[in-house]
Amino acid sequence: MIGAVDIGGTKIAVGMVDDEGRVLARTQVPTDPENYNSGMDAIARMLRKTARTAGVELTGIGIGSTGPVDPMRGEFGDVDFLPGWRGKSPVRDLEKIFNVRAALENDGDAAALAEAGWGAGRNRKRLIYVTVGTGIGGGIVLDGELYRGVDGAHPEIGHQVIDPAGPECSCGFRGCWESLAAGPAMAAWFERNSPGNHPHPTGITAQRICELAQQGDAVAIKAVEHEALYLGLGLANLINLFTPDAIVLSGSVMKRAELFMDRIRAMIHRGCRFVPAEKTDLTLASLGEDTNLIGAARVWHYRFAR
Ligand SMILES: [Zn+2]
Repeated sequence: MIGAVDIGGTKIAVGMVDDEGRVLARTQVPTDPENYNSGMDAIARMLRKTARTAGVELTGIGIGSTGPVDPMRGEFGDVDFLPGWRGKSPVRDLEKIFNVRAALENDGDAAALAEAGWGAGRNRKRLIYVTVGTGIGGGIVLDGELYRGVDGAHPEIGHQVIDPAGPECSCGFRGCWESLAAGPAMAAWFERNSPGNHPHPTGITAQRICELAQQGDAVAIKAVEHEALYLGLGLANLINLFTPDAIVLSGSVMKRAELFMDRIRAMIHRGCRFVPAEKTDLTLASLGEDTNLIGAARVWHYRFAR
């Protein structure tokens, strides 16, 4: 039974995942971005607790984390969201505590491996996983192998530039995909374009905007159209560059994918004429809310059980 650890900027989720990708027990705590040691203590405690709940013995630990991480050394890189965790090795520390093997990957890669192995991407030779939520991330799996760049680097599909006149991003560019099409970008567009007397308070989420659009709110419908435009451009770029068998879509914004898909497909049809874009299957992730947690477990299988 694999202990799965999903480390994000706001929460850490831990669970027990069987070798068919089913979550038998799970729990979570808020992340303390400054304090690595208390984070590790919490993770160890949650691993013991969920193993007890599921009535199983831990045989390995898989970790997916917000990046950048060094998967081969099992260390955190220069993680923006977790300044106190930089350079630390959760792999070494958890192996010492539990005396089992552990492995670490970027959470986008972990989720891509899960969808490729246990989810919607099964039997797809060339798969790109895209998650659209508070940011845009993903992973690329080719013939069952995770695509890695130079020195094991994780490609940042969310930072492809869509509009150089767009909003500034921490990556150094303006108008990258994430800065235009992630959930907060959709919310910012809605707030910018709402008339002063619009009945919706600030702090609105992308999901709420989608609900309003379905109820006929004119500004929300425009926001959905813009979102679909940016999603379509980014996905069309991925298809032109990689011509994958499938793109698996996930993340909180994609919970309302039905609102965007017609426009996304039209955009792809319009701008991907030189590749067989109709052969790329755009499909929704099938592992649900726990994709990242299941992905963390899959990291262990990918590293040690192939
Ligand atoms: Zn960026």
